[in-house]
Order: sequence, then C-alpha cells, then structure tokens
Amino acid sequence: MSYMLGLKCRECDREYPKEALYVCEYCFGSLEVSYDYKALAKKVTRKTIEAGPKSLWRYRDLLPIDGEPAAGYYSGFTPLVKADILGKELGVKELYVKDDSVCHPTCSFKDRVVAVALSRARELKFDTVACASTGNLANAVAAHAAWAGFKRFIFIPANLEIAKIVGTLVYSPNLIAVDGNYDDVNRLCAEIAAKYRWGFVNINIRAYYAEGSKTLGFEIAEQLGWKAPAHIVAPAASGSLVTKIWKSLKEFDKLGLLEGELRTKVHLAQAEGCSPIATAFLGNHDAIKPVKPSTIAKSLAIGNPADGYYAIDVLKQSGGTAGIVSDDEIREGIKLLARTEGIFTETAGGVTVAVAKKLIDEGKIPSDESIVLAITGNGMKTQEAIREAVGKPIHIAPSLSSFEAEVLKAGCKL
Ligand SMILES: *Cc1c(COP(=O)(O)O)cnc(C)c1O
Ligand SMILES: [Zn+2]
Repeated sequence: MSYMLGLKCRECDREYPKEALYVCEYCFGSLEVSYDYKALAKKVTRKTIEAGPKSLWRYRDLLPIDGEPAAGYYSGFTPLVKADILGKELGVKELYVKDDSVCHPTCSFKDRVVAVALSRARELKFDTVACASTGNLANAVAAHAAWAGFKRFIFIPANLEIAKIVGTLVYSPNLIAVDGNYDDVNRLCAEIAAKYRWGFVNINIRAYYAEGSKTLGFEIAEQLGWKAPAHIVAPAASGSLVTKIWKSLKEFDKLGLLEGELRTKVHLAQAEGCSPIATAFLGNHDAIKPVKPSTIAKSLAIGNPADGYYAIDVLKQSGGTAGIVSDDEIREGIKLLARTEGIFTETAGGVTVAVAKKLIDEGKIPSDESIVLAITGNGMKTQEAIREAVGKPIHIAPSLSSFEAEVLKAGCKL
C-alpha cells in the first residue's frame, strides 16, 4: 500500500505521474512528490511508527516507494545526543546533536537519501544508477548500489578529499573524476542523463531522492518525545536538506503526531567560501547569485544551488535565519564538538557548529530554548582540513624517564 499520489510542480502545481521526471514541462519548476494525506492521517499514528524497524523505513508510509524497500536497510535511526557540555560552553540550556555521522553505512546523512533513491530506482526499472557528488553522495551511492546490485556511475570534482575518493573506489563503481567544480560536474551530468537511461539520483529521480532527507526531521521529533524543537541548525549545499527538514515537521504536524504547536525555526549554515543561499537571505536579495566555491567544506561546495530559493522560503516561513563562517571558524567548530561531546564531524558539521555558536552569541537563537544541531558527516573523511589545526602528539622514547620529562616539557601536569 502506497500513499504516494504522484509528482507536482513546485511552481505551478501541475501534476505528473510518479515516473523519472524532474522538471515541469510548462514552467521548468522542479517536481515534488505528493501524498494522500487524508488516507495517511487515518493510517499513521505514533504507535504504527514505533512498531516499525529501527531504520528510516519506520517512516515508509511517508516515503516515495510503492512496494518494499530495496536499499538502505540500515540507514537512519541515528542518535540524538543531549549535548550538555557543549551547551554549557555555548551558554544554552537545552542542546542536542543529531548525529548522522555514525550508525550509517557510509557515515553521512546521504545514506538516507540514497536508501530512498535506490529503492525507487528499482521500482522504476533502472539497472544503472548514477550521481553527481560533492563526496558523501558518491560514497553512499557506491555502497548502497553494490549491496542492491545496480551498475553504478559516479561523477565527482577531481579535487575531493582522499578519504572520499578511496571510500568510493572501494565499492568498485565506475568513478569519474572531472576537472572542474561540482557545478561543472552537475552540468555535464545533465547532458549525460539526457542521453543514457540511468537513474541519476540527483537529476531524474531527484524528487524521490530528496524525500529521504525528511527522515532526519522525523527522527528528531520522534526522539524528542514527539515534539519539534524550537530551533534546528542545518548545513546547506543545494539547500534540499533544509527544505525537507521543514517539510517533515509540517507533515508530522498535519498528521497530528506532534505534541503542541509547530514553532520550529530552521536556520541555515554555509561556509564563507560558498554561501550563495545565506548571502541572498541575509542581504534580502531576490536572486541567488551563483559563486565559484573555495572552502574546506567541500561537501557543501555547490555554487549554484538547485533548491536555494526553496531553502530561503523555509527560513522565511519558519522565522529562522542564516549564518556564514570562515574556514578557521569551521576548524574551531570541529574541534569544539570533538572536545566537548566526543563527536568528530567533517567540515560540514564544523560549519553547523560554528554557525550555531555565532547565532547564539548574536542573540538570534535565545539561550533558553531547545536547539538541535544537524551533524551530517564524519570527520574521518576530511582529515586533511584540520590536520594542521589539531596539534601534534607528545613524542617520547620508550622509557619512564622520557615520558615524565617530555610530558612536563609540554606543560602537562602529572
Ligand atoms: C550533501 C550534504 C549536505 C547537504 O546537502 P543539500 O544538498 O543541501 O541537501 C550536508 N552535509 C553533508 C555532510 C552533506 O554531504
Ligand atoms: Zn510548473
């Protein structure tokens, strides 16, 4: 039983069948999955969800598949950590970290979107899946496609972090490294997608893929005891995650699953070297000006963000704001989260932590309201970004006297 009705243009509301379509023929608006909320309201309760598997498939009635899932059985249901030590340091009362960097096959929130995209790709009868990626999507598509038995073509900018390249190659996909940035890769992939009948997770099946991000928001609400937090801070590349977090909370609200009224403010985080969405929002500009990215936050380095306008809309609708941080602040953010909560996040997580700190310091997020930070990726994958910033071990000879001498020399107490 599926509650997915079809696809609908986000601009002109024209309806389309639930196929591998992604733009409106009339206005070129992007398409979004629509559901039968009336029927869903009769079927879905907190109990039915709680009885589901401990993965994102517990929300399958709100996801765009017709039959059984075909990938990502272990995606989702990541920890929501009460972050008291970090909260104290930031001067806030109730802080949580939604930690998508662990309990996921490839250690990022892309294990969510790919679970949904590949399940839908199977239903749409694709035998080959493909993607344009800033790194984490490459890892996730390569891994999940191996498990689900798809042929796979993966396109990345050639200058990605080594762990993201190795962490893709190990699954034996066809990995294509393009001389150019993500926006160049994406443009090329649009041409390739027009010629070959492949399931391009972020092109012709993007409408389905993007729905997977909703599960991050569903989980936050469920893990808080069916309550939406006052604030969520999330990073943005294309802007899709931010829009889907908001959609997830609105859906839960519409289905009567939330305690109290929905009053969550969604805040968007970007790096100074690639902040087209945040810059447009903060400057009150009508147009998003594409940029040429230059930041250590490579997973967020999309200069021409496909969902930028929709993300700005979410900030306006929810009453949230945006923040921009430098590469040094990103490194400090990574170290701060590690030092206080024992969570090693990648550069995108550093962006989130640093932006949250900035918004709290500026009073844009009040200190006495609940706050959730969306930590979307794992620090093991972007070690080169902080290698110089974490210091060095205290180097000793294998003797007690050397240990004591060197430790004292380094200024530690014994
Ligand atoms: C892809 C990604 C995001 C956000 O991507 P959107 O395109 O905005 O949905 C955030 N964090 C990490 C680590 C990612 O890989
Ligand atoms: Zn349209």
